[in-house]
Amino acid sequence: MKIPLAQPYIGEEEIREVLSVLRTPTLSIGPKLDEFEKLVAQYVGAKHAIAVNSGTSALHLCIRSFNIADGDEVITTPFSFVASANCILFERAKPVFVDIDPDTLCIHPDKIEEMVTQRTKAILPVHVFGHPADMEAIKRIAGKYNLVVIEDACEAIGAEIKGRKAGTFGDAATFAFYPNKQITTGEGGVIVTDDDRVAELCRSMRSQGRASDGGWLYHERLGYNYRMPELSAALGVAQMRKLTKILAMRQRVADQYNERLKDIPGVQLPYQDRRVKMSWFVYVIRLAPHINREKIISSLTEAGIGCKPYFPAIHLQPFYVAEFGYKEGDFPITEEVASQTVALPFYTSMTGLEIDYVGTKLEEAIRTLS
Ligand SMILES: *Cc1c(COP(=O)(O)O)cnc(C)c1O
Repeated sequence: MKIPLAQPYIGEEEIREVLSVLRTPTLSIGPKLDEFEKLVAQYVGAKHAIAVNSGTSALHLCIRSFNIADGDEVITTPFSFVASANCILFERAKPVFVDIDPDTLCIHPDKIEEMVTQRTKAILPVHVFGHPADMEAIKRIAGKYNLVVIEDACEAIGAEIKGRKAGTFGDAATFAFYPNKQITTGEGGVIVTDDDRVAELCRSMRSQGRASDGGWLYHERLGYNYRMPELSAALGVAQMRKLTKILAMRQRVADQYNERLKDIPGVQLPYQDRRVKMSWFVYVIRLAPHINREKIISSLTEAGIGCKPYFPAIHLQPFYVAEFGYKEGDFPITEEVASQTVALPFYTSMTGLEIDYVGTKLEEAIRTLS
């Protein structure tokens, strides 16, 4: 059996939507973009949604919108996909890492305040693997020191804290739609915000710094080409219409995994705080320290099962070490977690049979290799 690590959930509706765009001359800056943005804004409960060509672009425009620049500090997590820290470097600001909560795997709120300095401009929490960070605590600290909060919700569309959606806690938030995310636009991202100024800036900067009422060759500020094509927006429209169903199906896959893996010795299941609603992005287990993770991963890979060590710590990536001199031991919880986690195959249409196969092979590998 061959089981991929991830795969998108695409049906006839998506194909129809994309083809309908191809039958028009408008392949960029058209009605599907507006429709997609409205669906996202409505779903999340935000005043504005601005679609762009990737989650990374979305994060970059947030950083620029809040004038985070040379020498400013942004407090964030070292346990994430690298883009959440890179977007700070794009503007020559400094990511200031804070170690994570060993349960939620998100930035530890109790360790943030001691890292605030005169230069701190913002906090950038990440809802890791679709589990929301402690936004109440983060907002309290941000309020006390007058800091901006940029919420990286790229892995967490539909997640909730006390009934309120991820992406509505920060001054701005980002979602991402690469094909391994809960829903996809091929490549793509969205910024959501209630702030009219930020929304206008993001719209301008995604399209070469044009003014909303100016001409095509009138550039009010430095901008980029971060536009989302109509084909992607059309795919996003069809995916947004299914989002509630997709999230429920992913919850079911996670429940089935939990049931199948719960008695395997040395396997720690994903944590879920009872007070939050997860949006399942990936299914990541933690192996006990005595288990050789690399051997387990090669054994599963040989059995046709896609799996990966998720995430390697950002501060130990070569160019962070080279630029900032980070070393092992700087963020011990992140490093310990990063050395033990394995992302197993996880996607919306995953069947009970496939889950059982992964469970059986994992059980075998742990029994024979440890
Ligand atoms: C996916 C992701 C992004 C954005 O990635 P893109 O590939 O640029 O869309 C940003 N932050 C996190 C935490 C992510 O998982």
